[in-house]
Amino acid sequence: MRKARPAGERKKSAGSVSEKLARLGVLREADLVLHLPLRYEDRTRLAPLGSLRAGDTAQADGTVVRTDIQYRPRRQLVCLLEADEASRPRAQLVLRFFSFYPSQQKALAEGHRVRVFGEVREGHFGLEIVHPQFKIVTNDEPLPDRLTPVYPTTAGLSQDALRKVIARALAEDPSRTAEVLPEDFTARRKLWKYGDAIHFLHTPPPRLSDLTQKALDTRSHPAWTRLKFDELLAQQLSLKLHRRARAARRAPVLTGTGKLTAALLGRVPFKLTRAQERVLREIAYDLKRATPMQRLLQGDVGSGKTIVAALAALQTVESGRQVAFMAPTEILAEQHYRKLAAWLDGLGVEVVWLSGSMPAKARRNATERLASGDAPFAVGTHALFQEGVLLPRLGLAIVDEQHRFGVAQRLALRGKGMAEAHQLMMSATPIPRTLAMTFYADLDVSVLDEMPPGRTPVTTRIVNERRRGEIVEWVGKCGGEGRQAYWVCPLIEESEKLELQTAVALHAELTAAYAGKLQVGLIHGRMKSDDKAATMDAFARGAIHVLVATTVIEVGVDVPNASIMVIEHVERFGLAQLHQLRGRVGRGAAESTCVLLFEEPLSETARQRLKVIYENADGFEIARQDLLIRGPGEFLGARQSGVPLLRFADIERDAALIEAARDAADDLLRKDPAAAQAHLDRWLGGREEYIKA
Ligand code: ADP
Ligand code: MG
Repeated sequence: MRKARPAGERKKSAGSVSEKLARLGVLREADLVLHLPLRYEDRTRLAPLGSLRAGDTAQADGTVVRTDIQYRPRRQLVCLLEADEASRPRAQLVLRFFSFYPSQQKALAEGHRVRVFGEVREGHFGLEIVHPQFKIVTNDEPLPDRLTPVYPTTAGLSQDALRKVIARALAEDPSRTAEVLPEDFTARRKLWKYGDAIHFLHTPPPRLSDLTQKALDTRSHPAWTRLKFDELLAQQLSLKLHRRARAARRAPVLTGTGKLTAALLGRVPFKLTRAQERVLREIAYDLKRATPMQRLLQGDVGSGKTIVAALAALQTVESGRQVAFMAPTEILAEQHYRKLAAWLDGLGVEVVWLSGSMPAKARRNATERLASGDAPFAVGTHALFQEGVLLPRLGLAIVDEQHRFGVAQRLALRGKGMAEAHQLMMSATPIPRTLAMTFYADLDVSVLDEMPPGRTPVTTRIVNERRRGEIVEWVGKCGGEGRQAYWVCPLIEESEKLELQTAVALHAELTAAYAGKLQVGLIHGRMKSDDKAATMDAFARGAIHVLVATTVIEVGVDVPNASIMVIEHVERFGLAQLHQLRGRVGRGAAESTCVLLFEEPLSETARQRLKVIYENADGFEIARQDLLIRGPGEFLGARQSGVPLLRFADIERDAALIEAARDAADDLLRKDPAAAQAHLDRWLGGREEYIKA
């Protein structure tokens, strides 16, 4: 067997062991001991070949009597083993390999004694194991006295190689499994010793009781509890230290003058809701303090977050500082830009637009205006925080629909000179309590829990695709009465091209259906920004009656007169997306309808989602249900980054442990800061931070 290289030793060639380990999240040699098994195999026992039964997972020795390649029904290596123990007739076992190397064929040569491990099943010619693990053995080959761990691994890194490097890391340096937390700290919480827990989990003793085995499988065993607690403790410590560091940082004091904000309030055609006023007070107070604000503004779709953000921005501008207002899609950013430019028209506040797709010259012009500090207000996509954009007087960064940004983008954002600026994040997706306590614990949260008046609830209709013709007709009739509709194409995640084709086809179909009566528009992600803007504009003016759209309109788009939303192939959308889409209507006084077209057969998950969206209008409740259906991993968007932020603890199931770890973190920081630091180094050294903002 090839010798595995230790994790610390970096080798350039693609596919070195250390690179493969890095793919598993193991960056330092010391991290190897925290790479824990998924399950175990019991190789402490040898079953007599004659005693095997179909369904057993077992280990047995035998002598090869024949090995050959067979071609029917497909090419395979078939090896016949015979029992060593006396039995008459001699017990036999077939080993079958559908893919194999010549070296394996050689190892299974006639006369070799081999030890095999795998699941026994009933084959055509007696008992067999498909793709068993095997090795050549001599007569006195000892059996392990511990269970054999099976680790999460990655392509090209064999279990054997992984077992070896981990076993070596465990044996080599006892400090890796030494206790870093104070004795009374762990004793008081009835926690297992760290070293005991680690060793137990890597190599548990055999013949565990059913109860212990189950506890191990469900990760509720005290050894697991210790590791999950430690992981959560590290997370809580890191959050608290981050919060302290923030408190020590200096941000500009944005006192404001009230001039611009009063002017804006005077020109919008509505009065702020009480919730908006309360939230605005919280933000205004934060901005006047010399420590950076990190506030999350939560409010359901349509609750009126934009005006709150605009008022916070003006307080910043009044104080002589710059604002960056960032949105996750170009369409949304553009809409904000136009709305803000209109709101601020004549107030002497220059709003600069910046996006990734704008022409080089316009972009240079924009970045120069911002870099000189002359232009106080920048609106755009994440292009705002890319290389080459300087905001020397940045006072406030606003991030709309922050959950739509990937983890990597959010971290980049934090790195980007924002440390000294106030931050306002906005989201229509509420964060469940356990998440808030962990990943978002460093944020202050304001909630808009009141909808602006004059909204009419949206009626949701779930309609079988077979009745699509009736819907086409009905929308046509409504269009004739002056109502406007969005018509959302099916989401095709696998292929943007296919999605585009579908959108174009749907546009052609509806154009033909409504010829001479209604204007049908088309908007999709591949359009040039100018064309997108022109189309949105025509729709907002009422020059387009039916707007065929891909999911580009999902977030934030605001056309109050649109009162019909048709969504095709609704089974392909997630709950949060559906809620967002439905939230595009019901913004004006008109009666609004959302038609969800589904195609059979529906999966169980799709059925659940439809039920939730049909029964609930409240985004907070929908998000809660979503979390139940999907689990927190996807909710967090950790999937985008590939590496889950928590490896062992589960934020739903281990809610009680999170609570305990939170108190413990305070306790430890107070009594033994050095131990806290050592604990953080062990868990966090070399990894990304645990915070989500
Ligand atoms: P969201 O919270 O989803 O971002 P918006 O900020 O887009 O919501 O607001 C939705 C609509 O409600 C906009 O047309 C906005 O101008 C309007 N609006 C905001 N606040 C009020 C209010 N207090 N009264 C009436 N309409 C409001
Ligand atoms: Mg919005």
